[in-house]
Amino acid sequence: MRKLFFKNALLPGGWARNVNIEIDAAGMIASVTKDSDAKGRSVDAAIAVSGLPNVHSHAFQRAMAGLAEFDQPGKDDFWSWRTTMYQFVAHLTPDDVLAIAAQLYMEMLEAGYTSVGEFHYLHHQRHGVFYDNPAEIAERIIEASHNTGIGLTLLPVFYAHGDFGGAESHENQQRFINTVDGFARLLEGARSALKTTPGAVLGIAPHSLRAVAPSELRSIIKLRVNGPIHIHIAEQIKEVDDCLGWSGERPVAWLLDHMGVDENWCLIHATHMNGAETDALAKSGAVVGLCPSTEANLGDGVFNGARYHQTGGRWAVGSDSHIRIDAAEELRGYEYSQRLIKHARNVICAEAASTGRTLFDAAVSGGAQALGRKTGALTPGFAADILALDEDHRVLVGKYGDQWLDGWIFSGGKDCIEGVWVRGRKVIEGREHVSRQMIEANFRRCMTDLLAR
Ligand SMILES: [Zn+2]
Repeated sequence: MRKLFFKNALLPGGWARNVNIEIDAAGMIASVTKDSDAKGRSVDAAIAVSGLPNVHSHAFQRAMAGLAEFDQPGKDDFWSWRTTMYQFVAHLTPDDVLAIAAQLYMEMLEAGYTSVGEFHYLHHQRHGVFYDNPAEIAERIIEASHNTGIGLTLLPVFYAHGDFGGAESHENQQRFINTVDGFARLLEGARSALKTTPGAVLGIAPHSLRAVAPSELRSIIKLRVNGPIHIHIAEQIKEVDDCLGWSGERPVAWLLDHMGVDENWCLIHATHMNGAETDALAKSGAVVGLCPSTEANLGDGVFNGARYHQTGGRWAVGSDSHIRIDAAEELRGYEYSQRLIKHARNVICAEAASTGRTLFDAAVSGGAQALGRKTGALTPGFAADILALDEDHRVLVGKYGDQWLDGWIFSGGKDCIEGVWVRGRKVIEGREHVSRQMIEANFRRCMTDLLAR
């Protein structure tokens, strides 16, 4: 049994002092004792809080961050960004994906995320030629999670069509495309590759209503064992208009009406909902996966957070395209988007709590639900996924309790985090990943080679 001792820790019942946490061999919290005897104890951290789940990641896109910030002023949008992404993805090898994903997961750990939902859609070779092993690239994602220690919820993506109504896929989508049978083989391969990964979760991800026909959606949901179901939805106004043209319904309304959305679902973006959709989704128990930095970068629009919050809707954050990797920044970006549309302050805020605390609590519990993981609370039975905040950091010094969260989220960022444990194993020490040198050297080699191809 390993023991950690924290001067202060955020427990489910609130802030506590002199907290002793015992961790079992599987990395789960066995006991939590507050007000314990501090005499003679070496302190593992001054301030401990749960690690955040990152519910939406496309790992390879980390390598194209900063490569799509040019085009025709005012005419560039999500769809032209997607064309750039398709051109980029054509060049990637499985070893590139390993080097990029390891760098990404290391950066996530340094930035406050202790688990990730990998929405994995790059399955085949160029022009859709299959690898002998259908889980060839999925195995590189799993290897990257081993090399970095991040908790992995793998979400193999089912992608079949180029648009609503079962339209044929495009040439530049061939590396993503599967039949339902091919997807079943991919899931089987991923399941057996995950057997040696402690705490791994396997879910499914129908890509979007554009890419999956209703009959296929029903078939692949039947292939799910017990992990979550993630889907991109209502990210773009054109997508809403096309869905209306195809079905007469808006995307979120269609999904709620036809697919029995419940707490097993995570709807990524859900940016464009009317009031009725917002209320119905909040009542469904599903989680919305918000990706504020990516949604801003792509010009997607703004989620109706105030109404969703008032109706008790559950949500979490993801870094999606990885234009930035900083958990605090996603939380701040979400709240600021709401302030800008409401002309008000502290919009996503609970009664008698700070905004930082409200955002943090929602994102850790919604994130754990969305990733199907026992994480997000420092309490027995949950994974020992823990962040250590630096009490001497300039934005935290002299503060206490929820002020630490407000300082970290609104005024600081990832440099407030000095240590991180995942399932009780310390992976970030002195703000740096324990394998940073090797992982970053591989990434630098990969990028230099990739951008010269
Ligand atoms: Zn996405």
